[in-house]
Amino acid sequence: MQNQNNYLDKLNPPQREAVTHPEGPLMIIAGAGSGKTRVLTYRIAWLIEQGVDPFNILSLTFTNKAAGEMRNRIQQIIGADAKNLWMGTFHSIFAKILRFEGKRLGYTSDFTIYDTDDSKSLIRSIIKELGLDDKTYRPNYVLNRISNAKNALVSWEAYVNNPIYMEDDKAARMPEIGRLYKTYQMRCFQANAMDFDDLLFNTNVLFRDHLDILNKYQHKFKHVLVDEFQDTNVSQYLITKKLSSVHQNICVVGDDAQSIYAFRGANIQNILNFKNDYPELHVVKLEQNYRSTKTIVNAANSVIARNREQLEKNVFTDNEEGSKIEVIKAASDNEEARLIATNIFEAKSNEGLKNSDFSILYRTNAQSRAFEEALRKINIKYRIVGGLSFYQRKEIKDLLAYLRYTVNQNDEEAFKRIINLPKRGIGDTTVAKIVVTAAENNRSVWEVVSNISQYVAGRAGQAIDEFAILIKSFKLMIEEGKDAHTVAAYIAKTSGILRELYEDKTVEGLSRYENVQELLNSVKQFVDNPENEEKTLSAFLQTVTLMTSADQEDEDGDNERVTLMTIHGAKGLEFKYVYIVGLEENLFPSQMMLQNRTDLEEERRLFYVAITRAERKLTLSYAETRYNYGRLNYCEPSRFLEEIDKSFLQLSKSRTVSYDDTPVRNDRPTSTLSFAKKESIISNLKPVQKAVATPQHTPSGDFVASDTSKLKEGDKVEHPKFGFGTVKRMDINGTDRKATIVFDGQGEKTLLLSFAKLRIL
Ligand code: ATP
Ligand code: MG
Repeated sequence: MQNQNNYLDKLNPPQREAVTHPEGPLMIIAGAGSGKTRVLTYRIAWLIEQGVDPFNILSLTFTNKAAGEMRNRIQQIIGADAKNLWMGTFHSIFAKILRFEGKRLGYTSDFTIYDTDDSKSLIRSIIKELGLDDKTYRPNYVLNRISNAKNALVSWEAYVNNPIYMEDDKAARMPEIGRLYKTYQMRCFQANAMDFDDLLFNTNVLFRDHLDILNKYQHKFKHVLVDEFQDTNVSQYLITKKLSSVHQNICVVGDDAQSIYAFRGANIQNILNFKNDYPELHVVKLEQNYRSTKTIVNAANSVIARNREQLEKNVFTDNEEGSKIEVIKAASDNEEARLIATNIFEAKSNEGLKNSDFSILYRTNAQSRAFEEALRKINIKYRIVGGLSFYQRKEIKDLLAYLRYTVNQNDEEAFKRIINLPKRGIGDTTVAKIVVTAAENNRSVWEVVSNISQYVAGRAGQAIDEFAILIKSFKLMIEEGKDAHTVAAYIAKTSGILRELYEDKTVEGLSRYENVQELLNSVKQFVDNPENEEKTLSAFLQTVTLMTSADQEDEDGDNERVTLMTIHGAKGLEFKYVYIVGLEENLFPSQMMLQNRTDLEEERRLFYVAITRAERKLTLSYAETRYNYGRLNYCEPSRFLEEIDKSFLQLSKSRTVSYDDTPVRNDRPTSTLSFAKKESIISNLKPVQKAVATPQHTPSGDFVASDTSKLKEGDKVEHPKFGFGTVKRMDINGTDRKATIVFDGQGEKTLLLSFAKLRIL
């Protein structure tokens, strides 16, 4: 154990006041980078030193990773006792409580957690089953509506009985949303499944209807602490309020200027009204920023000052002035990416920085593609946080679905995924029939599957019967108490998933096989980790489903990478060099979000969050042209560029790099180029003081990319850069589709269709 009071010396007076606040409600309202998270961490350590048992402390963070880091820090101060803290995201903590107490609501402790894809797939089948048009009832919209209702604690019963919702839906020409909501909830319940919103909604129901349980947790949690409080929604707020109402020891930490989840129901009023709920409230303000240079802090202040709705704060720093904020203008989105990659390359060698000192922040995930290509070309390692991650890959989802189904046979979404995988000759119609039969007879899918001879005859019936026997053999292993890894490895082998991938000798097949092995490795690590008390498959699945996108960044254990992420994902983080890219009207601020002043203010807070991630150097960039939905658009610089006081900015000349735009390479981001190739790329990287790269091909008129899902050999196509060509070969492997195209005067190129913009002529 270290010198116990050492850490208090690393705090300024208001920080120390917050850390050592004795009892009663406490709110820390503070600017970005002013040590909020540090205060929360030290306060927990301090409480434990004062004799509070870690079992009695509940701390809610934004990502599990943040929770892990806090726990480590606390452990350094107070020792191994820190393990016993209840620390995690709202979702993970309340999933844990629901596993213990969910029986009261009719769920077993093995309930499945549906991720966003599962929810989408379920709502899509329900829309179809109810005979509704999915062009009118867009699954995303419907789910959003349901999600908003749940986060405002409106049950389906309340929804269908509320004339306001009914009128709204009628006016939007979607009068059946109430029925969809009801059916969706019932189906989740039958499947013994909860989606992310249900975890919060059901916790509220649990505490509302079962006072003995509420009472138990109210007494258990003597202290409740919440980081990033500005982003809690009503449902989360109510839970914390109920839990802390006996002891009144609630400590919340937040910055109203960084509230960026209103679109998901987060309510800034939670901060503003906190005083009304806790008249005894003690408020501490932190105004000194320790993270960034004066330039960055002042620029951020000049931006946020334009918002009308905000609490009075005066954020300052004693750090050095620092360099000006660089603004880069590029001719196109690809050029923007190249300039930034070059910039990172140069900063790395000139300033002796590491890849992990850099972060590229964008408004939408789709923007990552150009940066990936540009970084790959100059051999800079990167990682993408969010976006398509390891756990979203098909082969991983497939095996996870098997694991889920073994734990919970009512899991309808897992069932649909695996029933014909590997192929068993069971068609979609048979699957739909099973699901509908189960729903109509108020039986679970498993009851139908395990008595299939009553419902489906012939070969399909036989195949389903074999499937049921297979699942029963997996279940048996769990009943025998085998650990998660033993069961998962057996399932991967016996289900035929591994064999099928093993037999696929293509490069992609091999990499998919490795991915499945990697998943099994992670199950093994889970089982071997002494911190995990429960080694069951069910416990493993819970940690996987509840990983937020920001938690996945370390999945390959190699941290020496440039981080690419959305601004939403960057909350709470800090990097020496930050690039905020795509600063164009309609992209950032996003056109989709801009309905009124409140929306604009939320976009502006998002910009504020982005700026305040930077410690030493901030760079902003925009492109003059950009492809959007397959169309080349001319872009206007973002109004946010205008909003930063000019004295903080340095406009750099438009410049371009001269290496060729070679087609998308197929290797994984970690691959290294040969030394010779690397040298030649580096020498090619010398910036050229030329206005704009001349494209080799000028796209004809309004270039609108076609839907390439039906592209076939022999088709004539146009590419915005390579010009006209003919498709020579198609390689289709699962969702990876590649076309080899011979372009006039440009030779043969192999393009990944998920990236390539092609017009079919
Ligand atoms: P955000 O609003 O982005 O969540 P925050 O208010 O939580 O930021 P922290 O992440 O806790 O701020 O702190 C920002 C940086 O300043 C961290 O690197 C932290 O270690 C450092 N820091 C905080 N307080 C002090 C202090 N008193 N002395 C020196 N460094 C500090
Ligand atoms: Mg923080």
